[in-house]
Amino acid sequence: MPIYQYKCEKCGYEFDLRRSLSEDDSEITCPQCGDLHPRRVFSTFSTSSSGGCAPVGGG
Ligand SMILES: [Zn+2]
Repeated sequence: MPIYQYKCEKCGYEFDLRRSLSEDDSEITCPQCGDLHPRRVFSTFSTSSSGGCAPVGGG
């Protein structure tokens, strides 16, 4: 099941939901402010201008 990313234009909260292709996104509400019909955004590959391997920091 694909994961779609949504962004609320009201509060700017971003979240992702697993929605089936047949399902409609008409019943999706923002979990942050409860605004109806958040905008669906597509996952884009962020091309960072600065190349190189970023150091992996952990724990
Ligand atoms: Zn919101």
